Amino acid sequence: MSKKLLLKDAHVEGIRYFETYRKQGGYGAAEKALKMTPDEILEEVKTSGLRGRGGAGFPTGMKWSFLAKPEGVPRHLVVNADESEPGTFKDRYLMEFLPHLLIEGMLISSYCLGSNVSYIYIRGEYSWIPDILEEAIEEAKAAGFLGKNILGTGFDCEIYVQRGGGAYICGEETALLESLEGKRGNPRLKPPFPAVKGLWERPTVVNNVESIAAIVPIIDITGAEYAKIGVGRSTGTKLISACGNINKPGVYEIDMTITVEEFIYSDEYCGGIPNGKKLKACIPGGSSVPIVPANLLLKTVNGEPRYMNYESLADGGFATGTMMGSGGFIVLDEDQCVVEHTMTLARFYNHESCGQCTPCREGTGWMYKILKKIEKGEGKMEDIDLLWDIQRKIEGNTICPLGDAAAWPVAAAIRHFRDEFEWHIKNPELSQTQNYGLANY
Ligand code: NAD
Ligand code: SF4
Repeated sequence: MSKKLLLKDAHVEGIRYFETYRKQGGYGAAEKALKMTPDEILEEVKTSGLRGRGGAGFPTGMKWSFLAKPEGVPRHLVVNADESEPGTFKDRYLMEFLPHLLIEGMLISSYCLGSNVSYIYIRGEYSWIPDILEEAIEEAKAAGFLGKNILGTGFDCEIYVQRGGGAYICGEETALLESLEGKRGNPRLKPPFPAVKGLWERPTVVNNVESIAAIVPIIDITGAEYAKIGVGRSTGTKLISACGNINKPGVYEIDMTITVEEFIYSDEYCGGIPNGKKLKACIPGGSSVPIVPANLLLKTVNGEPRYMNYESLADGGFATGTMMGSGGFIVLDEDQCVVEHTMTLARFYNHESCGQCTPCREGTGWMYKILKKIEKGEGKMEDIDLLWDIQRKIEGNTICPLGDAAAWPVAAAIRHFRDEFEWHIKNPELSQTQNYGLANY
């Protein structure tokens, strides 16, 4: 059984409220941290090996150490709670059921980074969660864990919750900062990174909800103990939101030593695939990461089992591997049609493109139109090569990663499931009434 660090108290009745959270030992890590120096906390975070849980997996301690500290300029911590990646809902779970874990993590992180005013930017569709967070903030303040002179240390910290307007692009950190400043959420060119020029051009650390929540156990058990959990550079525990064709969709905390097979089939996690259907493929890290067919999902190119961690999932590069991403684990059984699935994603990215870069603005639209044509049985064989060509022209040629995120699913679908594209083209009449999966299994 995986060790639980973040969700260990998730099922304690009333854990959402300060009194119960405190009874369970909550804010103990904050009390410990406030007796340490900011540099000592930073060392613990670096030692823990924690990697950003939003999707990129960038080392959190390194990001914090890049924070510029010009004399007299305020610094900020901004928590990215704009969890919009299709298939990803782990931050929602944390915020809804364990809001004080996030607030405690923010207090420790704000103290370490020197942020007296910190923000949570939350996606508009999570309309019921800001109230939960604001209540937790008020409770923490009443207990002396936020506000002025926290626990007599002289450190002041306020936390504000800002609701987004429902645009996927505002989860990209620089678009988020633009939106937080009250502007249209268009991504900025990087560098400069937010650590140097962020919110209102001030040094800013933008971290995902889960990354900040993980600071609490890191301080609690020490960075060295945290680093012993997991394997290699995949230290600590990771939340996975599992969905699609599985018996037990939900949010699971894993220690990154389990295999993909165990995760899908064990009763502790997904509980297998309904109706005894076969596994076709999986997208293990949210919709932006490459889809992987079952044979490559259960084994690496070297025949080793594939593990649920950053390195093993990426084994073999994009040709045969994928990415841990945001931990949005989407399972497709044999009845699903990869062309239809890819078309749905293409429509999403086309709709969510901010339109600043030509390859993304135009390319996502073209990909959607071509995929729609193929899926309806109106495509030609040349369309597959055209799709391939368009995705190649988007990848790496845009301001923000949305372009790559739109290109990769198309590339991986053609690479691994070309036969499905060809089936739609060769069977125009059938493909108007059936999907590939149902017609072929
Ligand atoms: P990135 O690799 O560009 O950056 C990762 C982080 O490291 C950023 O905070 C960046 O500022 C920082 N960083 C990198 N180099 C730095 C440097 N030299 N100096 C200072 N800071 C530096 O990736 P990203 O654009 O932040 O994220 C992309 C990922 O987001 C994708 O892989 C995808 O999995 C994920 N994603 C998640 C969601 C979600 O809902 N959770 C939605 C869409 C995409
Ligand atoms: Fe906007 Fe797409 Fe360019 Fe990102 S890649 S800045 S979403 S047009």
